[in-house]
Amino acid sequence: MIELTYSRATDAEDAVGRAAGGQGRYLGGGTNLVDLMRETVETPSALIDVTGLSREIAPTADGGLLIGSAARNTAVAEHEAVRSGYPMLARAIVAGASAQIRNMATVGGNLLQRTRCTYFYDTDGARCNKRVPGDGCDALEGFNRMHAILGTSPACVATHPSDMCVALVALDAVVHLQSASGQRTIDLCELHTLPEERPDIETVLEPGELITAVELPAPNPAERSTYRKVRDRSSYAFALVSVAAALELDGDAIAGARLALGGVAPKPWRARRAEEALRGQPATEAAFLEAADAELADARPLAGNAFKVELARRTLASVLVQLTEGARP
Ligand SMILES: Cc1cc2nc3c(=O)[nH]c(=O)nc-3n(C[C@H](O)[C@H](O)[C@H](O)COP(=O)(O)OP(=O)(O)OC[C@H]3O[C@@H](n4cnc5c(N)ncnc54)[C@H](O)[C@@H]3O)c2cc1C
Ligand code: SF4
Repeated sequence: MIELTYSRATDAEDAVGRAAGGQGRYLGGGTNLVDLMRETVETPSALIDVTGLSREIAPTADGGLLIGSAARNTAVAEHEAVRSGYPMLARAIVAGASAQIRNMATVGGNLLQRTRCTYFYDTDGARCNKRVPGDGCDALEGFNRMHAILGTSPACVATHPSDMCVALVALDAVVHLQSASGQRTIDLCELHTLPEERPDIETVLEPGELITAVELPAPNPAERSTYRKVRDRSSYAFALVSVAAALELDGDAIAGARLALGGVAPKPWRARRAEEALRGQPATEAAFLEAADAELADARPLAGNAFKVELARRTLASVLVQLTEGARP
């Protein structure tokens, strides 16, 4: 029996105050944290329930959208402003987990859910640098079909599991944070870190720092966008590869693209090389494949997941072809 306390925060300041001292963990829907506690991967001494914080989804002064961190995933996906202005986000959310889990899961918890690497959850002898720094990594020579091909290190090759985050990084989302020292905002692209030598450090958050909201910039009406997830089953499966893409055409040329990949990296992967390669190019499949090649040039596949390089390449190109066809009169 591991002793722990449970309390419910009334607002952000109250939550941060309760977390002072560093031993407390914020509890959203609990769909990830409770599993981690059951497996004794995480053993917090205090749970601070933050589901009573803002779950409002409201327009911002500059035409964007502010989503409270306690908003449930389902509420976000079903919100009219999300469905009309940010369809890739709605699609990404419903591509994740199951209806029951999406009803429970919060925006804050989705951003900070942890990897689904099976060795990370296996506390019965598996070696894992993320769980026990310096222990080793059994995934390197083990079952690594689901693991990452970009942004990995010799210490860790796990993927970030979120679908929602992939759409959010493509949408240039900004995260609102609160801690004892005040409030700040950061680009979601900067929230998650790559493993390098310290896979146990997964974000740039300070101890006890709370996510209070996610802000989306105003939608670009000239863009067409979508989210496609490739997985082993049509539901209840994490991505082998996923693509969030927004494309703006100027005649037959590409005026701009915002692209992100999921299922291939330790963080939601903004595909900036591909975006750069596409700018000003004709909107053809050949150009899309070349851009995908640019993005994947540094891929480091493992024994079990070399297929992901070609899968990511083809999925990215196929999504862009789909968007191009939809954009032409
Ligand atoms: C069977 C199964 C299948 C799944 N399939 C998918 C899938 O296909 N795609 C996908 O994207 N996800 C999938 N998920 C994961 C699911 O989306 C996450 O578990 C969920 O989004 C986590 O949200 P939560 O509110 O329950 O977080 P919790 O479990 O409550 O918390 C997760 C983490 O976030 C921290 N946290 C929570 N709120 C805050 C806050 N406001 N500020 C700071 N820290 C906070 C917690 O301390 C904890 O570390 C699956 C989960 C399960 C169990
Ligand atoms: S890939 Fe990362 S999470 Fe998985 S066993 Fe290795 S160190 Fe642990």
